[in-house]
Amino acid sequence: MKIVPTIVATWTLIAPCVVAAQPEQPAQPEPLPAWISPRLTALSPGDPSAYFLLGEEVADESQSRAEEELARHLFGLAFELDRRDGTPSWIAPSSCLALASLSRLESDQRWLRALASRMDSSYAAPAWQSESSGGAVSDAAFTAAEAIGEVRAGNGLRARDLLQTPGVREIFLRYGQLLGFSAATGALWQVEQWASEWPCRECGNERVVFRPNTDPPSYRECYTCRGNPGPRLTQGQLVSQLRFESRLLHGISRSWGAQLSLDYGAPLREAAPEELASVLGIDINAPYWRDGGWVNSPDATKPAQPADGSAPTVSAPGQERGPPTE
Ligand SMILES: [Zn+2]
Repeated sequence: MKIVPTIVATWTLIAPCVVAAQPEQPAQPEPLPAWISPRLTALSPGDPSAYFLLGEEVADESQSRAEEELARHLFGLAFELDRRDGTPSWIAPSSCLALASLSRLESDQRWLRALASRMDSSYAAPAWQSESSGGAVSDAAFTAAEAIGEVRAGNGLRARDLLQTPGVREIFLRYGQLLGFSAATGALWQVEQWASEWPCRECGNERVVFRPNTDPPSYRECYTCRGNPGPRLTQGQLVSQLRFESRLLHGISRSWGAQLSLDYGAPLREAAPEELASVLGIDINAPYWRDGGWVNSPDATKPAQPADGSAPTVSAPGQERGPPTE
């Protein structure tokens, strides 16, 4: 399957760094297969499942970018129509998962799966459920946060102990990019390195050193750690560590795994159902297919959107990331 330029543009809003280099392709509206049109015309907002099921059919048979875009549009409408009365059924989360399966970017897939899990927790397989058993991972998350704090304080012995706790290294490997490293393995390596370099070899973290042959006994500041044991961190590293700890501790009672995996390093953005339509660029007030386009009334005849089923690019809320709200 290929990808429509408008999709690249809209999904770029979610993960700008990943797809920014995608080359532009000339837009060439492709006709939809004849069988689709009567099925589209038969759709009615009162039956969101029909949108979803047709979306699946179109996605399965998809031979063109226009069809793939149409499938996305159908899943998006199914999602919106299903949740509009405030009591979404299986259709809304299923639509998110279907959209995730059409998405090429892992970050988009994670966002959509998180959205599905928010609609219905049974649809998500949060990281901590699939990779470990029971409540052990919450303990590991807590321990990982504790470990990074001990590393920062220069309590290397304690930190090394904590890093040996089952599940803790896995957390660094999985979420270590939050510590500001491009690869999680680098994050774990650095944390273990810091843990191995401390406590202070000169003062043993006492911060002061005894001056020999003084009476009464006197002390001087440790030359090695300057009275402040622990690795010298840049401000960026410190902020990253605090964020990492905060996320782990904050999220233990929530779906921290799913949330962390949404967006390494960037301010946390909740998976908000109301954002999906604008991210997809679909008009949820135009659920009727008439004469080759989506319209807002069953009696309307003039398509509100291009006949190839593609949607205009719309800015997504949330692309302007503000400060973390935690
Ligand atoms: Zn020292």
